[in-house]
Amino acid sequence: MPPLLRFRYHPDPLATGAIVASNKPCVCCGQARGFLYALAPYSVHDDLAEAICPWCIADGAAEAKYAASFVDDYPLLQAGLPLAVVNEVCGRTPGYPSWQQEVWQHHCGDACAFHGEAGLADVESASAASIALFAQDYPFWRGGWAAFAASYVPGGSVALYRFVCLHCGVTRFGLDLA
Ligand SMILES: [Zn+2]
Ligand SMILES: [Zn+2]
Repeated sequence: MPPLLRFRYHPDPLATGAIVASNKPCVCCGQARGFLYALAPYSVHDDLAEAICPWCIADGAAEAKYAASFVDDYPLLQAGLPLAVVNEVCGRTPGYPSWQQEVWQHHCGDACAFHGEAGLADVESASAASIALFAQDYPFWRGGWAAFAASYVPGGSVALYRFVCLHCGVTRFGLDLA
């Protein structure tokens, strides 16, 4: 089994569930490489769920063949990130499952690395900088971080995704509501 690729913006897609072990061949390259993307990309082709191998994501083959993207580019474009970054995240990086349109987080002028759903320990040990970013991003959350943390249940109807800045290391949380 070949070692899994390393995606700059999604360093452990097996842990986050975005990539799963599978013996099925990839629809894009035809090879059974032991792993498939667990989700369906955005594409006019509707039969791409659990069908594309991570190598065809990483090298842009699936993006080109199916006009596919894996992450919504709008939030990253709105943030003013370089187009090369937006293209790498959206076209050549595994996305993640979410109820609402996913919002890939950014910091220090770059996209952050996605680390999956936050656990209780992540929430309890959140830094002051992370809490300040949360307050800025989600001002509608009454009671702020403390109220949020007190009611957070991993796997529940309010999901918190953990993104880490590749430059300063701050954790930026992304909120998702069922
Ligand atoms: Zn492939
Ligand atoms: Zn940063």
